[in-house]
Amino acid sequence: MADFTFLNIKADHFIAECKAAIGEAYVLTEASAKARFEHDFWNQYQGMALAVLRPDSVQEVSTVVQLAVKHGISLVPQAGNTGLVNGGIPDQSGVQCVLSVERLNTIRHVDPAGDFMVVEAGCILDHLRNVAAEHNRLFPLAMGSSGSSRIGGNIATNAGGLNVLRYGMMRDLVLGLEVVLPNGEILDCLKPLRKDNTGYDLKQLFIGSEGTLGVITAAALRLVAAPRERVTVWLSIQTPEQAVVLFKKFRDEFGELISAFELLGSDGVEIAIQGLQNLLRPVSEEAPWHLLVEVAWTFHEGLRSKVETVLETILGEHLCTDGAIAESEAQRAMMWRIREGQSESASKLGYILRSDVAVAIANVPALLNWLETWKVKLTPRNIRVLPFGHVGDGNLHVNFLIAKNQFANLHDELLDTLHDEVARLDGSVSAEHGVGREKLKAVTQRKSATELTLSRNLKVLLDPQSIFNPGVILENHKAKS
Ligand SMILES: Cc1cc2nc3c(=O)[nH]c(=O)nc-3n(C[C@H](O)[C@H](O)[C@H](O)COP(=O)(O)OP(=O)(O)OC[C@H]3O[C@@H](n4cnc5c(N)ncnc54)[C@H](O)[C@@H]3O)c2cc1C
Repeated sequence: MADFTFLNIKADHFIAECKAAIGEAYVLTEASAKARFEHDFWNQYQGMALAVLRPDSVQEVSTVVQLAVKHGISLVPQAGNTGLVNGGIPDQSGVQCVLSVERLNTIRHVDPAGDFMVVEAGCILDHLRNVAAEHNRLFPLAMGSSGSSRIGGNIATNAGGLNVLRYGMMRDLVLGLEVVLPNGEILDCLKPLRKDNTGYDLKQLFIGSEGTLGVITAAALRLVAAPRERVTVWLSIQTPEQAVVLFKKFRDEFGELISAFELLGSDGVEIAIQGLQNLLRPVSEEAPWHLLVEVAWTFHEGLRSKVETVLETILGEHLCTDGAIAESEAQRAMMWRIREGQSESASKLGYILRSDVAVAIANVPALLNWLETWKVKLTPRNIRVLPFGHVGDGNLHVNFLIAKNQFANLHDELLDTLHDEVARLDGSVSAEHGVGREKLKAVTQRKSATELTLSRNLKVLLDPQSIFNPGVILENHKAKS
């Protein structure tokens, strides 16, 4: 009882001081105002926040963090809230506060000649891509959540997406960072330098740290020349082995010009076409597997004829059974809608249990063939297996479509079985989505003691009071005082 009273008093003081520091309107405590910050994008996880804090500058973030330290209140940084691993919403204790960076949404600077832009953490990914395009530059990160996710969250999750093959993960696109540390100090590593070997590259610590080591408030991002000609191709193939052979063929022909090389299972394609509006399969017949490939360059023309020549060769070699080139932007958008809309369409049919794993490209067929065998055993139990992914990165997403009330029964069985096979193939149980709370067990079970000890020591060094996102990535524990 005494503990509850103490907790309430310190929470009340914290909230009152936050209101004084950032304005009453930006400290949300009403249930209806907090609601959208307390559940994830797909409504699969639910938490409860003491309050939602919405500062609008790095100085205000710093003040809020200092107040959290003073009162011992945990903070959960949140950007666009599209994360898939239950890391960006509070837990169910009701004592954590969401620290939203939505209002830090200024594009501070664009330098097209220097190929960089400096943006605040709350900028929506699509928005900053559009601003880069206005300067005839490309910010290459692109994914299904581009319209909602924000750059602070993209950096904190080291997001991957559709163009990793050519431009790398988020980590490869960050030149500099501004971060508020767990003691409230502002770490300014924003210099947009390509070369800076002056000791430890501290910004790297925060990329992929999922809000556990501090709050990212701004970033200097790498821009590239915007491609002028782009060719998008849809291919029907019979086996996962063909996907890998074709990937090598495209690589040999087009090298770094390939920006996407996506594999889609037949069931997922048909579910997307039937469940979403105005979609047609780009090829006439169903096929066991499909590839969606995109190549692009900065010249105005000439790429399409090169792609056509390669397609003639691979059709002649019977490496694919059918194929189509997008003839218009609308056709291209439809191909990508089939790829991107699979989860949305499948979720109308039941509950989606998601996974995100990676294996070496050579092991992609082994994993997919193992899945096919497993699928036969799961079908009589009304479990559908819908694999798709960035095959050029060895990154597969396996969606399990299950009945809505089966989540608790099937979660561990399905994911543990998949993860064990991935581990047997020497892969990763989280390719691009991160760890959050969802994969804490799966990841910690498979990390070496040395990796875990080093990670825990790092967390304690930076955040001894465990103010930031306790229980995400690592189990929650505070340094001994
Ligand atoms: C439809 C859909 C498609 C997706 N496709 C992809 C994909 O192709 N590739 C991919 O990698 N992911 C994908 N995702 C997952 C998600 O969009 C990414 O993880 C994204 O980078 C999260 O950004 P966000 O702004 O929504 O972050 P949030 O969900 O708000 O937060 C994610 C994590 O980052 C932390 N965080 C947020 N902001 C900050 C900050 N400023 N400082 C420190 N920590 C912070 C949070 O605490 C949390 O742990 C997809 C999600 C959806 C819903």
